[in-house]
Amino acid sequence: MLGLMMDTPLLISSLMIHAEKNFPEQEIVSVAADNPDHRYTFQDAFKRTRQLANALQSLGIQQGDRVGTLAWNDYRHFELYYAISCSGAICHTVNPRLFPEQLIYIINHAEDRVIFCDPMFVPLLENIHDQLESIEHVIVLTSENHMPASSLPNLLCYETLIAGESNEYEWPEFDEKTASAMCYTSGTTGNPKGVLYDHRSTILHAYAAALPDVFGISASDCILPIVPMFHVNAWGTIYAGPLCGSKIILPGSKMGDGETLQRLIESEQVTVSQGVPTVWLALLAYLEESGKQIPSLKRVITGGAACPAVIAQEMQEKHDVYVHVAWGMTEMSPLGTFNQFKPGMEDLEGDELLEAQLKAGRGVYGVEMKITDDDNNELPWDGVAFGSLKVRGPWVLSDYFKAEPGTTLEEDGWFETGDVATIDERGFMAITDRTKDVIKSGGEWISSIDLENTAINHPKVAEAAVIGVNHPKWTERPLLLVQAKEGEELSKDEILQWYEGKVAKWWIPDDVVFVDSLPHTATGKIQKFELRKIYKDYQLPDIDA
Ligand code: ADP
Repeated sequence: MLGLMMDTPLLISSLMIHAEKNFPEQEIVSVAADNPDHRYTFQDAFKRTRQLANALQSLGIQQGDRVGTLAWNDYRHFELYYAISCSGAICHTVNPRLFPEQLIYIINHAEDRVIFCDPMFVPLLENIHDQLESIEHVIVLTSENHMPASSLPNLLCYETLIAGESNEYEWPEFDEKTASAMCYTSGTTGNPKGVLYDHRSTILHAYAAALPDVFGISASDCILPIVPMFHVNAWGTIYAGPLCGSKIILPGSKMGDGETLQRLIESEQVTVSQGVPTVWLALLAYLEESGKQIPSLKRVITGGAACPAVIAQEMQEKHDVYVHVAWGMTEMSPLGTFNQFKPGMEDLEGDELLEAQLKAGRGVYGVEMKITDDDNNELPWDGVAFGSLKVRGPWVLSDYFKAEPGTTLEEDGWFETGDVATIDERGFMAITDRTKDVIKSGGEWISSIDLENTAINHPKVAEAAVIGVNHPKWTERPLLLVQAKEGEELSKDEILQWYEGKVAKWWIPDDVVFVDSLPHTATGKIQKFELRKIYKDYQLPDIDA
């Protein structure tokens, strides 16, 4: 027997309609390229979103068409998120920091019909335009008097495009499984792969993200997503914000700029913020050097890479900010786990507390997880056994875009994340490594993440990476790459001694290379594959040992 409840589809337009009705005066504040201090209300935003939906229609965009964006976090990108998806088209956020070949591949593979871009990315499109097969128009996200000179044909101005359009638009109703947005994975090996989100998965994810034990945001919060809107929907914040009625601060291209972040936090009274560890390190460094404070900030959420202990410690001790670790991936919309303590953990102290706080956290409702050995046998949740981490749930992908159907998941319907993890008795998962980053030494595994975290906790270390390099006897041995803090002198012996007593003796890196900087991906992660290429033939000392 079926239940007798309304069959209302879960559509992203419902978030917009809800927010405009219930929180019309709530603000969205942006650092836009042509206005570093832009501010308007949800009501203004959704009025312009309707104008934009009409403009998309005038451009001939139809349901199911892919519309590209190459843009930072600001109000126009926010409008694009809603207008594109809610009119039935697919908002394809393209990561502007990718290599030109990857951009060409992604845009052609998605068959984007038009692309909306920030003025600063026009030169990037000029370089590759003759290789883009499907783009009919490039629309620059600015007003007429800030339009850049360009050789691009069919260049349009965003403000001019929407100015002539009506702000009346009837949001269409369609199947909740209709595709809403897409994002390509960074493609560390092979070509990038497209993940295609739908309205249902997005709404369910937004509900989960807003829960008290997850982002825990409400209409009284002011959120500052420092995760790019071009990467996994800024972790769902752009949907969860309007769902809860939270004030939203969008930092534009100033994501890694401690000074701008501090200014925004202080002036807008930000309470919760999301970002990758590199962002927090930049903010902490600025606070240290400027002596400035961030008193309104209560919690930060860090994810995308392991969180160095120093972030959690400094945020707590110097700024009274609690750091929550979250874990997820593009294929998971992205949320998988969130670190919020359970009853019974209040008494944890010192190292035990820190260790528990730095784990990736427990499964968010909606994501089931398990760890397995090489034969797909499930491993115990004892905090010791580690294996391949697998997930399933309504906001986990079922196939990559245009991939042969049925080739993405394992036979039993689980998605293998490519991460290696432990899960403890309390259900807290901890990432041990990426399957491809783990260092295989003499048949045993060494966690590159543990070695990096130990290095970064050294007071003179700014950033560190550990990769496996070939070794005739042990197959691979760890090589540590270190960027010392500015003005600090750090020797090889000093950093290697630092490991003693902190990790197993045989884990200690065989050699250290001091570097001026480490290469990062568009989302602030260290590009280990780049480092592996550079140090492919690295000769370790004492190779006969
Ligand atoms: P990419 O496009 O680089 O794959 P994702 O955001 O999809 O970008 O990356 C997901 C991966 O990032 C995860 O599989 C995991 O390896 C890593 N990651 C995410 N969050 C954490 C975390 N809290 N701790 C350690 N690693 C993490």
